[in-house]
Amino acid sequence: MLISGPNEMISMGEQQETTQQFVTRVLAKTETFNKQELADYQRSQLAQLLRLAHTETAFYRKRLAPFFRKGDILDWQKWNDIPVLKRADIKEHGETMIVKNLPKGHGPSYETASSGTTGTPITVHGTYLMLTAGTAAFARACRWYGHVNNDRYCLVMNAAQVEALDRNVWAVGIEGSDRLEGNKSSSRLAVSWTWSAEHILSLMEQHRSSCFSGYATTLENVAEAQMKRCADIKMKFMVGVSMALTPRARKLVTQVFNARTYSAYTSKEVHKVAHECPVSGGFHVNSELVLMEILDDSDKPCAPGETGRVIITPLFGTAQPLIRYELGDLATWGEPCPCGRAHPIIARIDGRIRNQFQFAGGHRFMPGIGHEAFRDLLKADQWQVAQTGPLDVEVRFISPASDEFIDKAAMTDLLQKSYSLNLNVAYRRVTIMPLTPAGKFMDYVNKYEMQIDARANENAS
Ligand SMILES: [Zn+2]
Repeated sequence: MLISGPNEMISMGEQQETTQQFVTRVLAKTETFNKQELADYQRSQLAQLLRLAHTETAFYRKRLAPFFRKGDILDWQKWNDIPVLKRADIKEHGETMIVKNLPKGHGPSYETASSGTTGTPITVHGTYLMLTAGTAAFARACRWYGHVNNDRYCLVMNAAQVEALDRNVWAVGIEGSDRLEGNKSSSRLAVSWTWSAEHILSLMEQHRSSCFSGYATTLENVAEAQMKRCADIKMKFMVGVSMALTPRARKLVTQVFNARTYSAYTSKEVHKVAHECPVSGGFHVNSELVLMEILDDSDKPCAPGETGRVIITPLFGTAQPLIRYELGDLATWGEPCPCGRAHPIIARIDGRIRNQFQFAGGHRFMPGIGHEAFRDLLKADQWQVAQTGPLDVEVRFISPASDEFIDKAAMTDLLQKSYSLNLNVAYRRVTIMPLTPAGKFMDYVNKYEMQIDARANENAS
């Protein structure tokens, strides 16, 4: 059994409770662990996952061989020598990472596709226990905000997931119809991020949802749409998942819904990574669920304050172990949190690596220009800057103002000064901002690099 503590082994099969109740109880206990207890607990989980991967999969039998001394003894000194797992490894060798016989209590397994950096999805296999533990970790974070779980929830997912839900259990929205379907008295309503914010709001109203959980960008759009409506919706709690909420989204949610809000750092492949702390505003890693590392360019661990690549090992990912998986994000460790929880703090999640820009003759960098400039100069509600060539960017924006009221020249000047380059800046008005296949909105997108990647892949195949 993978769930065990440093001082006690807990066997799930012997408990007269549901998996969810069990994991919730474990997480309430581990939440009080000190740093050493938490590290010991995590290592005991990790050891079990490594043994499983080593014995049950062809891929890891070879990859982890140097890590195992005298058969079954793990050589933790060699941890940093285990190669980082890339998306390309999963694409190429994913089948040989699959565990056929899941440990008791972990299954069933499920398949999910995640969008790649060039829009090519990869398929990964997760476990029921992974999802359940994620839900329990989410509930724990809700509790930090004084929020108990008997409210009516609106949950955002993709249209296919909404379609597949059990309608005896869920209230579900229907695309193009304002009617609520399924079990209308259910406390859980499912909507799709592909639907308009107005449609989602109308369904929330019928359902009388008091809480919302969905992509940070969907949340922002919903708040934006509500600001323009006459009808009043009071919400208690709105959670933005996948990435941190922008300061603007937080402000809108407070203004429009009078709700509390916080963010969760999640991903399809590895599920719930970290939750925002109400005390420091940093993100506490769910160390019971994942081992998170931040590595520099030479794969050395980063110290607090240094930005590096996020590497995740999901501890309950027993259907297809992803050991030292490079998620594609950049992040920075923070200092220990004043709230007293020993779970490591992520001070900043800097976004996707594919959002970095690299102009001719220059180095890669995270292109950050405050939202205020786009709002003031372009009167933009939403915007996206794309690198489209070696010295070219395109600003896509949604703005109610006509051209005579916006200042493209000043915006171009600002971009050129910010990047110290004589860039060619093009402008394009759009009505909808493009999202990635996973529903993520990227404020900075490197189309130029994606084209180069796509060409390299074509040439290689
Ligand atoms: Zn904290």
